[in-house]
Amino acid sequence: MEVGTIIKVSGPLVMARNMGHASIQDICYVGDLGVVGEIIEMRGDIASIQVYEETAGIGPGEPVRSTGEALSVELAPGIISQMFDGIQRPLDVFAEKTKSNFLGRGVQLPALDHQKKWSFQASAKVGDQVEPGDILGVVQETKVIAHKIMVPIGLKGTIIEITSGDYTIDEKIAVIQSDNGEKEITMLQKWPVRKARPVREKINPNVPMITGQRVIDTFFPVTKGGAAAVPGPFGAGKTVVQHQIAKWADVDLVVYVGCGERGNEMTDVMNEFPELIDPKTGESLMERTVLIANTSNMPVAAREASIYTGITIAEYFRDMGYSVAIMADSTSRWAEALREMSGRLEEMPGDEGYPAYLGSRLAEYYERAGRVITLGTQRNEGSITAISAVSPSGGDISEPVTQNTLRVVKVFWGLDSLLAQQRHFPSIDWLKSYSLYLNEVGEYLDQQLQVEWSELVTEAMRILQKESELNEIVRLVGIDSLSAKDQLTLETAKQIREDYLQQNAFDEVDTFTSREKQFHMLHTILHFHTEGQKALELGAYLPEIMEGTIQLRDKIARMKYVSENELVKITQLENEIRETLKEILQKGGL
Ligand code: ADP
Ligand code: MG
Repeated sequence: MEVGTIIKVSGPLVMARNMGHASIQDICYVGDLGVVGEIIEMRGDIASIQVYEETAGIGPGEPVRSTGEALSVELAPGIISQMFDGIQRPLDVFAEKTKSNFLGRGVQLPALDHQKKWSFQASAKVGDQVEPGDILGVVQETKVIAHKIMVPIGLKGTIIEITSGDYTIDEKIAVIQSDNGEKEITMLQKWPVRKARPVREKINPNVPMITGQRVIDTFFPVTKGGAAAVPGPFGAGKTVVQHQIAKWADVDLVVYVGCGERGNEMTDVMNEFPELIDPKTGESLMERTVLIANTSNMPVAAREASIYTGITIAEYFRDMGYSVAIMADSTSRWAEALREMSGRLEEMPGDEGYPAYLGSRLAEYYERAGRVITLGTQRNEGSITAISAVSPSGGDISEPVTQNTLRVVKVFWGLDSLLAQQRHFPSIDWLKSYSLYLNEVGEYLDQQLQVEWSELVTEAMRILQKESELNEIVRLVGIDSLSAKDQLTLETAKQIREDYLQQNAFDEVDTFTSREKQFHMLHTILHFHTEGQKALELGAYLPEIMEGTIQLRDKIARMKYVSENELVKITQLENEIRETLKEILQKGGL
C-alpha cells in the first residue's frame, strides 16, 4: 500500500506529499494514530486533508494512508434512535450522556452494530425481476418504522435466492442474477455522503407539513418536500422552533443535526425525546428520530460533514417511501466550518471571508430536499423537508449565509429579537416572514377541510397589516383620532397576536395545535371581529362592547389551553359571542 508523508499540520488541515495515488474526496488515515480525514484538494502529489478529529500531537513525517473510498455512511437497520457524530460514528449516548462527547482518537468504530441480528421478512420472491430501489423485504426496526431493504443503486436482475430469517447486516439475504453475474445482497448499503441519492422524478411539493405551531401552519406553512430557514439572533428561539418541529411534524422520520451549537442542547433532546409521545403513533419520539451531533466542543471539520451525513440518511429513508424532515441547527456554524477550512487552504475569500462556493454548497444541500417519486417499479412517493436555523451575528440578515439560504428556500421564518424580549414566542415576525407555499397550501386545505381556510388566513393577515398602519397613526396623533371600528380592529389584532400567534412550547396543551383547532381558534377570533364591527355599525358604543365582552375575551385568550378533545368548547364560544353582542345592542335599545 502506498503511503504519503505529512509535511504540515494546521489545525484540522493536514498537508501530505507522495499522495499521487490518491484522489480528491478520498478518506485517509492520518498520522501514527490514524485519525480520519478527507482529501479536499490535490495539487500535484500534495494532498490537503480535512481531518475530522483533533490533530494535536500529529506532526510532519508521519504517514498518511488513503482508503481510496469517499466519505460514506452505512445504511442498514440500526440507524433509528441512534446518535452519531458528523461522520456517523456512534456516540454512546445513553451510557455516557455528555460526560464526554469525544470518541478516542483514531478509533475505527463501525457506524452500525454488525453483530445484532434483525428479523428480515422477505416480500419479493425468487423469479422476480428487480431494479434499483425495489423492495426486497422489511425489518421492523423500531415500533413505528418498518425498514425496507431495497435493491442497491446500480443493480438489476432476477432474484434467484431470498429467505426470510434473522440476519446481521453483513449476512446474505438474497442473491440476484444480473448481467454481470450473481450478486449477493446483504441489508447493508454504503453511500458517499456528498452525492445525492438518485430518484425517478421530483414532483411539486404542495401537501402541507403540519407542525402544530400556529404561526407556521397558518401564516407561513412549509410543505412536505419544501425547505424553510429560521434566521434569528441569539436567544430568539431558533432551537425551540427546530425542537418543536422535530417533535410534532406529521412526518414519518426526523433527522436532527445539531451542528456547532452548544452540547447541552443535544443533551436536552436526548433527555426529552424518549419521554415524549408521538401523537401519531403513541410511541416514544425516539422511535422515529435519528440524531447527528457535532456540537461546538467537537472537532470543527466533522461539522462540515454532518449535514451531508444527515441528508444522506434522510434520502435513504425517503427512498423507502417515507416523509422525512431534516433539521440543521445551525447552518451558520456549518458555514463557519467551511470558512475556516477555506481560510487554511488560502483560497481567495469572498463575502465576509466565506469561500466563493458558499452559495452553491448551500444550494446543493437544499436541492437534496424535495418531494419525489422514488426509484423502483412501485414508484413510491417520498419527501425530505429541510428546515434550517441560521444565526447571523447581531441578527443582521444581509450577511452571506442568510442571503444565500433565502435564495434557495421558499419559506422564511424571520425571528425578531424585540418580540423575543417581549416574550412573544415563537418570535416569528408576521410582517417580514413569508412562505411561497401559502397559496397552494390554502387551496389544498380548502379542499381537504371543506372550510374557507384560506379566506380566514387572508383576513387575519389583513388585520395584522392594518394594525401596523394604524399604530403609525396612533404614534403621530394618538388613539383618540381613530374611529371606533379601527380601535376594534386593534383589539382584534391584539387577540390574533397574543391569543393565537403566541404559543408556549413548554405548556402541555399549547405546545401543539391541530389544524382543526387552529381553524376553530382563528374562526372564533374573526367571528368576534365581524360581530363587533356589525354592532358598531348598528350604533353600539365601543366602550360598551369592551365592557360587555371582558369575560368573553378572557375565554378567547384561553382557547389555546383547551385540549384537542374538547374543541366544542371553542365552537360554543361563537354562539356566546353572538348572544353577548345581541344583548349589548338590546341594552342600548338598538
Ligand atoms: P436560539 O436558538 O435562537 O438562540 P432558543 O431557541 O434557545 O434561542 O430560545 C431561547 C429561549 O427563548 C428559550 O430557552 C425559551 O426560554 C424561550 N423560547 C423560545 N421559543 C419559545 C416558545 N415557543 N415558547 C416558550 N419559550 C420560548
Ligand atoms: Mg439555538
